[in-house]
Amino acid sequence: MSPDLQRLIDLQRLESTIADAKAKIATHPQRLAEADAQLAAASRLLESAKNRLKDNQEARRALDKDIALYQGRLSKFRDQQSAVKTNKEYQALGHEIETAQKDLGGVEEKVIERMVEADAIAADVKQAESAFAARRKEIEAQKKQMSDELASVEASLTSATEARVALLKQLDQRLVSTFEQVARVRKGIAVTTATRDGLCSVCHVRLRPQVFQQIRQNDSIVQCDSCQRILYYVPPPPPAEGAIVR
Ligand SMILES: [Zn+2]
Repeated sequence: MSPDLQRLIDLQRLESTIADAKAKIATHPQRLAEADAQLAAASRLLESAKNRLKDNQEARRALDKDIALYQGRLSKFRDQQSAVKTNKEYQALGHEIETAQKDLGGVEEKVIERMVEADAIAADVKQAESAFAARRKEIEAQKKQMSDELASVEASLTSATEARVALLKQLDQRLVSTFEQVARVRKGIAVTTATRDGLCSVCHVRLRPQVFQQIRQNDSIVQCDSCQRILYYVPPPPPAEGAIVR
């Protein structure tokens, strides 16, 4: 293998590592925001169940006030009734008492409805709380994993960047220019392999036989006629010991 070709292969590997690392780092804030949004959605579900319970309790307090009001009215009528002088007055108060009792009964029915509702809502709250706790645990684990990944990608970016600087010092400036020129117009891929059947592995053009023959030597810098990428050849692995060679 020509040392320059080996360096260009290494440069390509480093450039690809750097590009992948940068792309991954760029997506991190978005992924973090998505995880936070999921947690916020889970928290809103819990909040809504808690709010329903609060509404129920407020309604219940209003009904309790009504009960106190009707009970006060009833006892006032009963006091008055025991003090009246005429039968007519007595009967009139009797009607008032009957009406107040009916009103009281209506409110008491509503209290029972609210109590039944409160039991169902309390069960919903409990379920929402455990669902939220589970979701939070899951999302926190996700975020922890994301931050571990970020740290490892940042570390690989740093080491690839340093290795690239060192490698560039060892490379002929003319080769670096060729590499950069091709990388710029070929989505960052300036070095690739020729396939075993003689194609450029990226643009798939068939290489001329003498060009392919030259690439197979791996001892010079040869570019694809079509896409200009620098090509090298990876020979097939030798057959494993004991394997039947046909
Ligand atoms: Zn090509």
